[in-house]
Amino acid sequence: TSVLEIKDLHVNVATTDENAEPINILKGVNLTIRSGETHAIMGPNGSGKSTLSYAIAGHPKYVVTSGSITLDGEDVLSMSVDERARAGLFLAMQYPVEVPGVSMSNFLRSAATAVRGEAPKLRHWVKEVKGALTELEIDPSFSERSVNEGFSGGEKKRHEILQLGLLKPKIAILDETDSGLDVDALRVVSEGVNRYKEREHGGVLLITHYTRILRYITPEFVHVFVGGQIVESGGAELADELEENGYVRFTQAAAGA
Ligand code: ADP
Ligand code: MG
Ligand code: MG
Repeated sequence: TSVLEIKDLHVNVATTDENAEPINILKGVNLTIRSGETHAIMGPNGSGKSTLSYAIAGHPKYVVTSGSITLDGEDVLSMSVDERARAGLFLAMQYPVEVPGVSMSNFLRSAATAVRGEAPKLRHWVKEVKGALTELEIDPSFSERSVNEGFSGGEKKRHEILQLGLLKPKIAILDETDSGLDVDALRVVSEGVNRYKEREHGGVLLITHYTRILRYITPEFVHVFVGGQIVESGGAELADELEENGYVRFTQAAAGA
């Protein structure tokens, strides 16, 4: 089994104004995710949820000022973005990038090559991709399209889950994988995440503001994220409370502190 451990993580974001001071967004995040566990992080807009996922992924704009992130004891923060992927971390971006001129099938094969350390045998690979496309109810012509170019919101999200199924990471971070999905797409995407959990026994960090996706993917742990920190942790029942009462109790407590 694998363990991603985040300890007392503080992160600043660089602003575009070079004369301005960097802004401190994460203020001491502690979180441990093991293989087979699903953790949901829920919090209002602007609370720093995406900052946490970018910091784990190694986005250069997000500067870790103190604290640590380790995967199975290895220092993630000293790894390049590629090394993090090879080590078994997967980040599905809230805003996936477009890569014109690169077909999905080439993109996926080079991603798999990078992660696995060798190019998948072409025949096997074609079969693997076909199977994954079928499971996610994606049209086969999709693999000839350019990466994310002109993809609808739902297609982008299916593409993320397609990558998840093919790359088989140890720990997957899914940032608002549910945003903008219609009911059918939400079901298909959730089923893909659940298959990944069953087949790979992977750990999942599911970042979301809505409880809707939690009807399809059951988290063992729910964390409330406000003001750059986890302010409360509990089980799935905590999501039910948020569904009913929103974040007010937590934002008020944070403002009063
Ligand atoms: P969430 O994902 O919870 O909505 P984010 O992590 O995206 O929150 O953002 C947290 C805070 O950091 C917000 O106030 C946001 O405006 C600010 N922030 C994030 N990235 C940048 C950036 N590149 N430049 C300036 N501010 C940023
Ligand atoms: Mg946001
Ligand atoms: Mg976000």
